[in-house]
Amino acid sequence: MELRFYNSLTRQVEPFRSLKPHEVGMYTCGPTVYNFAHIGNFRAYLFEDLLRRTLEFAGYNVRQVMNLTDVDDKTIRGSLAAGKPLKEYTRPYIEAFFADLKTLNIEPAEVYPAATDHIPEMQQLIQALFDKGIAYKSEDGSVYFSVDRFPGYGKLAHLDRSALRSGVRINADEYEKEGFGDFALWKAWDEKDGDVVWDAPWGRGRPGWHLECSAMSMKYLGESFDLHTGGIDNLFPHHENEIAQAEAVTGKPFVHTWMHCAHLRVNGQKMSKSLGNFFTLRDLLDKGYTGREIRYVLLSAQYRQPLNFTFEALAAARTALSRIDECVDALSARAGESKPDDGKRVPSPLPAFGEALADDLNLPEALAALFAFIRAANGALAEGLSPAGAQAALGLLGRMDAVLGVIYAKRPKATTIPAEIKALAAARAEARAAKNWAESDRLRDELAAKGWQVRDSKEGQTLKPMAKK
Ligand code: AMP
Ligand code: ZN
Repeated sequence: MELRFYNSLTRQVEPFRSLKPHEVGMYTCGPTVYNFAHIGNFRAYLFEDLLRRTLEFAGYNVRQVMNLTDVDDKTIRGSLAAGKPLKEYTRPYIEAFFADLKTLNIEPAEVYPAATDHIPEMQQLIQALFDKGIAYKSEDGSVYFSVDRFPGYGKLAHLDRSALRSGVRINADEYEKEGFGDFALWKAWDEKDGDVVWDAPWGRGRPGWHLECSAMSMKYLGESFDLHTGGIDNLFPHHENEIAQAEAVTGKPFVHTWMHCAHLRVNGQKMSKSLGNFFTLRDLLDKGYTGREIRYVLLSAQYRQPLNFTFEALAAARTALSRIDECVDALSARAGESKPDDGKRVPSPLPAFGEALADDLNLPEALAALFAFIRAANGALAEGLSPAGAQAALGLLGRMDAVLGVIYAKRPKATTIPAEIKALAAARAEARAAKNWAESDRLRDELAAKGWQVRDSKEGQTLKPMAKK
């Protein structure tokens, strides 16, 4: 299986080759732990989970590192406002983040380094940049990276370097720099930082955000590694700066393949904390949606396509998942019967499924292969598929689920139906049998008002709890 990924560095879809056979080192920019992550953030983490699982499906061993940004303006501001030490302030958000990863069935990374535990590594990098003549100290005591002194700057964002010198302001939040594109490696302490401060040979202060990812990725993955990922907003300046800091010191290519996912949007705008148009995972769970349904929605578009978040999409996910569940249930029931094996099998979807994933993680195509298989399995069941054939089909679903993570995991347990609801449903069945359609419709509405959806089929009616609005 030859994987082909879009590499932001070359702006091309290209065959993926790892530096070491069968091993992939992958770095993922993780959350800033000053609040709960929103589902836009989780779109990025789910894209990375899909990438990781696809690499595993293709036979690679993946070593993934995801950082926790636990020192920056936002975490410091939050801890001061709450009157708590920084670590105490960030801990509940770190715990909530891990709980959310579980709810979304995201495979854990191998290492979750926190920035505050890696200050010495960051300081070593700054020292090396001083030694190379690329870092300089400004009047306010902060240390900056001089973009002008590093000719490799701009290759990820495909920047015109002359623009960096000609007075185009790129980072509006930084000052006292030699060049407009220069960025902070170390921020000198000021009152707003409270007691969040570390000593350094060039003065007390704290590390810049970009520096933490260069320092921690190289510590855990080496000076050159295979894959680096994030949302598209991370590409510039964050990832460009990570490359500069690393390559200026090592002189080696930092990362081979850069992959970025498009944003989750709401009404055409990026979902973000600052715009206030966001939902956290908890918001949606409180409305009655499951982690499994949310995972399905966030994965269902190709990762480089913008995805618009809607409640209709969540409802569609529920329907799609119940089609899968019905098929799994029917296959399981058949697999439990005792009948001889006639040798018939549902044809394997794995070649089409694998090819879709290999094509730059084309999830819509991969899901099409899954649903074609579900249809074929339902057809085969109707034609008397043997228990051995049903068992084989379940095995194929399991193989696909190793990548998708929506079929088996987090499947809701059978809901207990309250007696009152059962009585209403029984009354409705009677009304239907008596062809009293007005009464049966009225009972359907009454059930809906109590949060239960009735569906009619040849076998009778079924009841399902509805998502809360
Ligand atoms: P942050 O905590 O803001 O540093 O973001 C963490 C991750 O979420 C980064 O990879 C961002 O690029 C990504 N991200 C933030 N907002 C969105 C969004 N609306 N859609 C997709 N990814 C996002
Ligand atoms: Zn980063």
